[in-house]
Amino acid sequence: MRVLILGGTTEASELARLAGPDARLDPTLSLAGRTAQPTLPSISYRIGGFGGSEGLARWLAAERIEAIVDATHPFAARISENAVTAAHASRIPLASIVRPEWTAEAGDRWTMVDSADAAARALGTKAARVFLTIGRRDLAAFKAAPMHSYLVRSVDPPAAEDLPPKTDLILQRGPFDEAAEEQLMRNRGIEMLVAKNSGGDATYAKIAAARALGLPVVMIARPPKVAGAEFADAAAAHAWLVSLLRSHNTASSERGV
Ligand code: NAP
Repeated sequence: MRVLILGGTTEASELARLAGPDARLDPTLSLAGRTAQPTLPSISYRIGGFGGSEGLARWLAAERIEAIVDATHPFAARISENAVTAAHASRIPLASIVRPEWTAEAGDRWTMVDSADAAARALGTKAARVFLTIGRRDLAAFKAAPMHSYLVRSVDPPAAEDLPPKTDLILQRGPFDEAAEEQLMRNRGIEMLVAKNSGGDATYAKIAAARALGLPVVMIARPPKVAGAEFADAAAAHAWLVSLLRSHNTASSERGV
């Protein structure tokens, strides 16, 4: 069964590892092409946009795709909307891996906001040292709060014009370790953390480190995102693909394939 995995996440890579050796499945991983040196899978892959939901529908037909797993990041809302639209138009079953959100626990000092602009406002006006761990796309919002000094961490270098005036940069890819995150925040004199509520283990260490240090966190809530049948992890999505095989095999034998 030919499967499209929409990726760019740990879960997508994990599903590629599970589906790759499964002789019943013929998966292709799709990456948007945002990072300069993406972690490439051992299965077939493609890189770059499809051209909206219509482009995706054309690609699905050309590649004779029979099932889609949307394993994109919780903050990647547009591709998920395109996937639902294209899957519906093409009558292809779609499942989504929806990573559980992080929730505040005892000792957490979170301020919830719904955008990077709101996060910049939530930092207040008193100059502070802020650790910005939101990737590189929304950094320009913090130019509106130039009184703070920032430590920005991202996988690839941000555009210089997006950076607030007092910014130090760390180029690094997760996963991160809690002791190292705590050490980094201590060494840099960090007073506040800004994070997206991405969920998952790979980047949770900074949240635990902020709790241990008693630091406030400005947490950007997830955007609304459409989904197909929802699964929490790659193993469950793999099981869903296997469950489709029975109807897939019946349909193939009825077509005489
Ligand atoms: P987005 O806003 O939902 O998508 C914007 C456009 O990028 C889509 O319309 C599509 O272009 C293309 N695209 C996105 N994901 C794609 C994929 N897996 N394969 C092919 N094309 C894709 O997405 P985004 O927030 O820019 O995120 C881009 C990618 O980075 C996603 O794959 C996501 O999983 C990953 N990622 C995002 C974040 C985040 O915080 N947003 C964090 C970690 C990883 P066309 O319309 O031309 O098809």
